[in-house]
Amino acid sequence: MAHSDIDHLIQLLAKLPGLGPRSARRATLYLISRRESLLAPLSAAMAEAALNVKICGRCGNLDTVDPCSICQDITRDPSILCVVEDVSDLWALERSEAFKGQYHVLGGTLSALDGVGPDELNIEPPIGRVLGGGIDEVILALNATVDGQTTSHYLSERLSEGGVNITRLAHGVPVGGELDYLDDGTLSAALKSRRSLG
Ligand code: ZN
Repeated sequence: MAHSDIDHLIQLLAKLPGLGPRSARRATLYLISRRESLLAPLSAAMAEAALNVKICGRCGNLDTVDPCSICQDITRDPSILCVVEDVSDLWALERSEAFKGQYHVLGGTLSALDGVGPDELNIEPPIGRVLGGGIDEVILALNATVDGQTTSHYLSERLSEGGVNITRLAHGVPVGGELDYLDDGTLSAALKSRRSLG
């Protein structure tokens, strides 16, 4: 491995969330010193993922099949739709095993500060899905941040004419909290004790 290859690897790893240049250098050394046991299988797994992972056209989840395996699962309740900001939130809810309905991933939140309006989000499809009928409850499982709450408010306004029960996660989600960081028990409790909005 030429030195520039190593530098390139460091630069790429430094782009990962939570990794700066220093930890990227440590990770690179760690990988290179475990070339057979870690670096080669990791690079193969990444190549596979780059080739095969798709965005589900129905809910926005990531999977190797489209519609994703959650959308295809006929044992899940089609009458409850849980709206989340990111795929990481969907995964967090799946880990909690507390929810057996359908999902929709917005791909972010509305943010006046960052100039994110409804057009920048995957926000019309779930509205269409709900207003199209067949859904009894929409759970707005958005983060307890200002932008998350703004987005919840926007969605509940838009969905108000649909005659569906709109709920949000209850206690246990700290202000400013992100779902992905909650332990599974807390998330599960917040989901079970969800309450109606407005
Ligand atoms: Zn899906």
